[in-house]
Amino acid sequence: PVGLVWFRRDLRLADNAALYDALRQCAQLYCVFVLDDSILASLPRADRRVEFICQSLAELDQSLRSSSGRSDVGLIVRRGLAQDIIPALARELGAQAVFCNDDDEPQALARDAGVRRQLRAQQVNFLPSKDHRIFGRDEVLTQSLSPFSVFTPYKNAWLRKITPFYLSSYPSERHLGAKLAARPEADTRPVPSAAELGFAAGTLDGLRLPTGVSGARQLLADFLPRLPKYQAARDFPALKGPSYLSVHLRFGTVSIRELARIAYEAAHNEDWPPQAREGAATWLSELIWRDFYFQILAHHPHVTERSFKPAYDAIEWESGPEADALFSAWCEGRTGYPLVDAAMRQLNTSGYMHNRLRMVTASFLVKDLGLDWRRGEAYFAEKLNDFDLAANNGGWQWAASTGCDAQPWFRIFNPVTQSQKFDAQGQFIARYVPEVAALPAKLRHAPWLAKPIELAEAGIRLGQHYPYPVVDHAAAREKTLARYAVVKSSS
Ligand code: FAD
Repeated sequence: PVGLVWFRRDLRLADNAALYDALRQCAQLYCVFVLDDSILASLPRADRRVEFICQSLAELDQSLRSSSGRSDVGLIVRRGLAQDIIPALARELGAQAVFCNDDDEPQALARDAGVRRQLRAQQVNFLPSKDHRIFGRDEVLTQSLSPFSVFTPYKNAWLRKITPFYLSSYPSERHLGAKLAARPEADTRPVPSAAELGFAAGTLDGLRLPTGVSGARQLLADFLPRLPKYQAARDFPALKGPSYLSVHLRFGTVSIRELARIAYEAAHNEDWPPQAREGAATWLSELIWRDFYFQILAHHPHVTERSFKPAYDAIEWESGPEADALFSAWCEGRTGYPLVDAAMRQLNTSGYMHNRLRMVTASFLVKDLGLDWRRGEAYFAEKLNDFDLAANNGGWQWAASTGCDAQPWFRIFNPVTQSQKFDAQGQFIARYVPEVAALPAKLRHAPWLAKPIELAEAGIRLGQHYPYPVVDHAAAREKTLARYAVVKSSS
């Protein structure tokens, strides 16, 4: 039979579940990626993710040719709506089955249901596989077979269930070249660039963010020597602590099975000192958080619009022109709190933000500025290269205390204390907020507390070179406690 492999968030040939299933079942294969207008239309005109995808697709296309040694094979890239393109292409190519990796995001489920309906009418099978997480929505459940809503018991159950089977790679490149069919003549053009798709070009290239499978390999090779120190370094944004692999996990240019296997084996490697094993176990735990939020979204799709805990929908957030001005200050990194501003500027200029700072800035938006978490969530969704609905929503609801296993509502990060603790030398601040870099390190956390002479010596005039704080943390804290009082009885 002839199969069509539809690539979506899995832009690699190695260890790809759908490709492996297709190889096992079909004698001839075609590979397609749809530049879906329903997604592209909603993106800002300058979008690093579109560039990331285009560059990664070009590499995938080239890898298909290399695996077969033939120039007539490659990735078919078509633009339009997946619901139209996939059934039409299946008919055109005479495919009996469409293979893809599943996706539990509500929009993806709706799209796939539409495609499945169309294909069924053509008597073509639609065969999704599980690929981008270790355990699917119903594979890790409580004893009463309901989904977990607290992380630690979920993680313990995850660790009890894990076996080498779940961590082993699919040999999806074996014999691939021999089964690839020649592309239709009309599809032999090169993968379009972001500019050709109508997006502003050039924002990604300056970032040294390597794309495609080769980019993921480069970042992984760079991270592995740091894995033993992950636990010690991961909370300090000025250090090169984490892996920076999130964007590759997002687009599937690296396999989650490979990463989880590396983490699991290192965490159990008796040759490693306990602290190093601890580093690997902590990294594995982060990968389990990823699975955790995927299953939360799958079981509770209402979280995309409302609080996980319904009582929290009664909270009244600040609104009106003053709230809008505070929101703009937060987005643009001019709140007067240097760590918050440094983090937002990191996001705006690179599309990445360190995990500790995602927690700090999210907490600041909700609990210092009193703004609806959904405004911050939407801003992150627009800016993050690694934006993933499940993790982003989970992170925001955690920070806003509205989610599952969230930060208790009365726990409010102090942005200055966070700064003193996690950027003690003010190095990260100096990198992104040069306005305060001339101050001695200990004054960079709260410049408004510096003496006039100290400010003068650094050549800084507050309110002119750098803003005064847009809110007073102590007063904001009291307001937040009052705001959240409506949910007191339910927590
Ligand atoms: P590493 O520290 O190297 O972690 C390895 C991988 O584990 C990450 O790549 C990621 O896939 C996963 N991971 C780590 N922490 C988490 C977590 N808390 N939840 C889920 N997965 C996690 N992560 C995203 O991938 N996309 C998002 O849109 C996203 N939005 C967030 C929003 C907020 C408000 C918060 C608090 C966190 C968010 N995270 C998100 C989680 C986390 O901040 C990023 O995954 C991490 O910073 C990515 O950097 P890294 O790859 O260097 O991470």
